[in-house]
This record gives sequence, C-alpha cells and structure tokens, in this order.
Amino acid sequence: MAVLEIVTVSSPRAPILREKTRPVECFDENLRALAENMTETMWHEHGIGIAAPQVGEYLALVVVDIRQSKETKYPCTLDGEKITKIALCPLLMANPRIEKFSMGTVYGREGCLSVPDVRENVRRSKEITVVYQDMNAESHRLFCGGILAICIQHEIDHLNGILFIDRVERKE
Ligand SMILES: [Zn+2]
Repeated sequence: MAVLEIVTVSSPRAPILREKTRPVECFDENLRALAENMTETMWHEHGIGIAAPQVGEYLALVVVDIRQSKETKYPCTLDGEKITKIALCPLLMANPRIEKFSMGTVYGREGCLSVPDVRENVRRSKEITVVYQDMNAESHRLFCGGILAICIQHEIDHLNGILFIDRVERKE
C-alpha cells in the first residue's frame, strides 16, 4: 500500500475536484490497488473518508472509515442484516448512489482533506439508504445514520464535483 498525494483546492490539479467522475466498470487488480492506496492515504491523513478525485482519479470510488468515532446511536443494516459500523470499516464503495434520504436533517461541522484548515457547519440527511458495489462488483444496499451517513453524503458529493464548502448555509 502507498500513501498518495492529496489534491487540495490550492493545488495545480484542483480542477479535478470540480469534475464529475466516471463509473467504475472494471473490477480488477488496479481498482483494488487504488482502493487500498486510498485507504492508506485516508488513515495517514487521519481522515474518515476519501473519494477518488481527491487522489487525482476520475472514478466513482470512495472509502469510508469511521471507527475512530465514538458514536453508537444509529442503527445500520447491510443487505437487510444488522451490522455494526465497526464491522464495515474500512468501507470501499464503487458507484455509490443514495437511493433514499430521510426526512430529518442534522447540522454538523465538517472538514475535508482537500480543503485544509477549514471547518464549516453543513446540513445533511440524518439517515440514508445507499446502493453501491464492492470490489468484487457485488451490489449492496446499506441503510445507516449518524456520522457514517454524513460521511457517505460528503464523499458522494466529491464524485459529482461538489465540496462541502458549497453547502455552507450563509446567514442573511
Ligand atoms: Zn472531502
């Protein structure tokens, strides 16, 4: 595994952070290596999530690992079975798509490896159902809330060229 260079908003490669990614179609060794390197990079930077554009790849691939979070409040099911968030980590998702947003929202402070030293309050859905493929191209449906849901929403935004700073609500 290798630590990759993070593309930040001030780096020469920053435009990639504003591009839409292409779907993962080839579930091969290269994809697995990229996912592993993204995981290593996220851990190295003490992040809880990372998306492929943040390491310069136009691919719909994200990695999430919230095991450092103390939160245990929200239920989580994978393919209809109860699962602990810890058992999911690190969660490698290809082609993730949010199928359902909950009615309620939460307002919480976020940061991003690509936007160093900035933390802002962002409103997100409290619970989501997300469909995605694992590294063997098998499809899954994950229902979750809390930090995991917030993190997944943040990472999926990256796949569509959206940064959390775009979602900051400015008081009039
Ligand atoms: Zn981010």
